[in-house]
Amino acid sequence: MDRDTQIFDLVEAEKNRQINGLELIASENFVSDQVLEAAGSVLTNKYAEGYPGKRYYGGCEIVDEVETLAIERAKELFNAEYVNVQPHSGSQANTAVYSVCLKPGDTILGFDLSHGGHLTHGSPVNFSGKLYNPVFYGVIKETGLIDYDHVREMAHKEKPKMIIAGASAYSREFDYKKFREIADEVGAILLADMAHPAGLIAKGLISDPLPHCHIVTTTTHKTIRGPRGGMILMGKDFENPYGQKLKSGKLKKMSSLLNSGVFPGNQGGPLEHIIAAKAVAFGEALTDEFLHYMVQVKKNAKAMAEAFMKRGYDVVSGGTDNHMMLIDLRNKGVTGKQAEETLVKAEITVNKNMVPFDDKSPFVTSGIRIGTPAITTRGLKEDDMDKVVGFVDAVISNIEDESIIEKTKNEIHEMMGHRPLFQF
Ligand code: PLP
Repeated sequence: MDRDTQIFDLVEAEKNRQINGLELIASENFVSDQVLEAAGSVLTNKYAEGYPGKRYYGGCEIVDEVETLAIERAKELFNAEYVNVQPHSGSQANTAVYSVCLKPGDTILGFDLSHGGHLTHGSPVNFSGKLYNPVFYGVIKETGLIDYDHVREMAHKEKPKMIIAGASAYSREFDYKKFREIADEVGAILLADMAHPAGLIAKGLISDPLPHCHIVTTTTHKTIRGPRGGMILMGKDFENPYGQKLKSGKLKKMSSLLNSGVFPGNQGGPLEHIIAAKAVAFGEALTDEFLHYMVQVKKNAKAMAEAFMKRGYDVVSGGTDNHMMLIDLRNKGVTGKQAEETLVKAEITVNKNMVPFDDKSPFVTSGIRIGTPAITTRGLKEDDMDKVVGFVDAVISNIEDESIIEKTKNEIHEMMGHRPLFQF
């Protein structure tokens, strides 16, 4: 067949969009050339149901080595005792954990989606809200911070089988120790979903769930800057309802239960090309260069939140401890939907987002979520943040002025177009 120009022209167009625009979506990043190379490699051709050394297909010796490297690197990165790198996504990782730890109808206590949680933490539109009995905790209206008294109250009232600590739109630290105390008080399993801050956690720049939580899930494509995918981990040497230490029989049983929750429980053949790309990304994340990157992501987020507040924007919780922030646009008279749709015309990509105690629907929303992982990969520093916020502000303050939107887009092209991104 001739080269599929229809698709490759679109790939080229998307590449140019990524190069020229300002990528502020908090859950996105740009992988390195070697991560891309591994993800696009011949490993996509291989079936490898099972796990290294125990496969249901022949010819898996090489992919066994690849998957083992991915596991070993992830263990080193997160100081973990157990890792499963096969989940195709963060949602698949959560699905696998729930399927092993819960029975249909069991109660789960998660972070309210409209306060910052994720769909898979019990939203009624997701399997987690349909199959299980979801109850929620939220943030304090005045501070935007997690209300731990509410977490405790809900845990004692609802007796959940599992508590989920993790978020898609929360800019502050999680107190995993406190979550663990509450989980122990009611005999619940504590799951941390570190999908967003995993890169910061890997480099010790924000609180680490692994020493406190029974099970941890993550995506591999956000701050950790790998290919799209998921992962399940368990930490080392902590008391756990399944046994004393991971070496003990009960915990070993938990590792094999989790493995079977992924395959054959919820997935078939693993994506070994993606697992290879995960291994490359974990190798990169183990370097000091990645530490410098993550430090810069945090510095940029702090500078960006300050620049927004200086211009009168309402940053939920008054700042950020991590790589992202949530902006409540109600005092600007603009909805999240309007902001997202107009910013994209200037080639600034953000996503509309519910803010805590939002009075608008999830299709409209009162806020936008903004993050610095992608622009930091492009080399922007804290001194550039005022300019970046100036671009966003110019559009939001002139939401119907096409000439300002066009001018902003041209300035963004000038700023971003010359910055290196992909080599191939
Ligand atoms: N968990 C959290 C906290 C997330 O933010 C996300 C994605 O945004 C996921 C899970 C799901 O990841 P995926 O989109 O890979 O299914």
